[in-house]
Amino acid sequence: MWQSTSFNRKHTLAGFNSFFESHAIHAMVINVAITLYFFLLDFSLNIFLIASLWTLFITIVIDIMYHRYYAHKSFQFKSETLRKTLSILTIAGGYGSYITWAAIHRCHHRFSDTDKDPHGPNNHKLKDHILLNFTIPPNVYKYATDLLRDPFNKFIHKNYWLIYLPGLFVLCLMNLQFAFIMFAFPTTVNLINSYLSTYTLHKKLPGNYRNYNSKDHSYNNRYINILTFGLNGLHNNHHIDPSNYNFGKSKLEFDLSSYFIKPLMDKND
Ligand SMILES: [Zn+2]
Repeated sequence: MWQSTSFNRKHTLAGFNSFFESHAIHAMVINVAITLYFFLLDFSLNIFLIASLWTLFITIVIDIMYHRYYAHKSFQFKSETLRKTLSILTIAGGYGSYITWAAIHRCHHRFSDTDKDPHGPNNHKLKDHILLNFTIPPNVYKYATDLLRDPFNKFIHKNYWLIYLPGLFVLCLMNLQFAFIMFAFPTTVNLINSYLSTYTLHKKLPGNYRNYNSKDHSYNNRYINILTFGLNGLHNNHHIDPSNYNFGKSKLEFDLSSYFIKPLMDKND
């Protein structure tokens, strides 16, 4: 879901963020290569089932932490230990810092479907979508100053790739199937999940529908919702009410994360 306008990307590639981009691209290439190797040359049903369960768990944790908690603050945790533990677990998803994600996502909500939107109309070509997963719009961190005040968040933000890449390297040296389970499959699935939802849910496509006449071009799609484990298909519902942790508005609109958020929440929230 990391995107920027074409103008911003040129600026970004020449600046500070090339550090982020090169690491994100390296991680993506290594993880996709390990995933392809597993499926084409080293397949085992047991390993695949274990990797699928772990990936589902990590994908739910990422959705809860990056989107519902850090980007929108749609609930409060009942304990700091829980928040920090789940924040550390998100590293396995290879998504980069949750501060970066939250900042870009807040910018997306603020300027939805305008030229200032990192997911905006300038970036609706497939090529742009692929490249934009690895770019950061300039000055975007002004949307996450509240998150960066927390020393724990700041540490994860500064050291994300310094933890992720050596971790991946060590796992590969230990056992390639273990690397596939722990990092490569979750990262590959989250990459596909991100592309699928950002590419399809802000334009009129077969199967897309709107419950609310929001000012932006956000849509829901039940098929995307199933394909993304009930995490990302209810985009129009979310855009009309971004501070609500539950995106489902009817019994047919399934929101998996909302079931897991309830037991994590502070009861006073
Ligand atoms: Zn959102």
